Amino acid sequence: MMLKKIAAALAATTLALSLSACGGGAGSTNLSALKIGIKFDQPGLGLKEGEKYTGFDVDVATYIAGKLGTTPDKITWTQAPSAQRETLIENGTVDLVVATYSITDTRKEKVSFAGPYFIAGQDLLVRADDTSITGPQALKGKTLCSVTGSTSAQNVKKDYPDVQLREFGTYSECVAALVAKGVDALTTDDTILAGYAAQAQYAGKLKVVGKPFTKENYGVGLKKGNTDLCNKVTDAIKAMIADGSWQKAVDANLGAAGYKAPAGNPPTPAPCS
Ligand code: GLU
Repeated sequence: MMLKKIAAALAATTLALSLSACGGGAGSTNLSALKIGIKFDQPGLGLKEGEKYTGFDVDVATYIAGKLGTTPDKITWTQAPSAQRETLIENGTVDLVVATYSITDTRKEKVSFAGPYFIAGQDLLVRADDTSITGPQALKGKTLCSVTGSTSAQNVKKDYPDVQLREFGTYSECVAALVAKGVDALTTDDTILAGYAAQAQYAGKLKVVGKPFTKENYGVGLKKGNTDLCNKVTDAIKAMIADGSWQKAVDANLGAAGYKAPAGNPPTPAPCS
């Protein structure tokens, strides 16, 4: 009888201990494991090949996770297509989104951002033999491809309303359509476009126009109002820039595609609000 009581007491203690080790308290994140949303089809940024995840966003996310106490084997990578990022954060499917995710006021109504950790610019990708498309102003009568829920598509609708825009769910679908001549150009961040242009399968077939016409501040998306987590992520970004890991990740992932980080990089992350 006595033994049973001791056993029960021990079990209760163990349960309580393991609960508190999980972070327990309402709203806090379990930092010994993280669910992180990335792109799965953007070479140089977020790419899934089998069980291997590579790219600048993957390196940034892995670094941040490390600073939060999460080892790489405790990261669950989840695909976060452009139009689903806010929802994935809001419903708790992911703790962080590190997915070429521009910080905007509209998105800030639903999620919080740490960063920026990189500044890119919107550009155009065309077929290598196309000399007619020199910038967004030269898109009259052409079909342009972009992705639903992206700032890229929004900017075109707002600033170039006459352009015929086709929206897909992912940029790799746009690339396939561009190569197959179903569309004439693809617009999104120059980082992403450089990654596709450098892929062996498209060698000599595609080129980036090279005249960026917006500023895209990449942030780490997280649950709105979680200032504690936001501050920790911000500190991690600052540490990554300060200790040289940021530059290494830029060179290894974006430099490999011939991409040069534009002026303003590395950025100074903004305070969390
Ligand atoms: N950075 C832009 C955005 O957040 C375009 C790239 C993307 O769709 O991921 O919408």
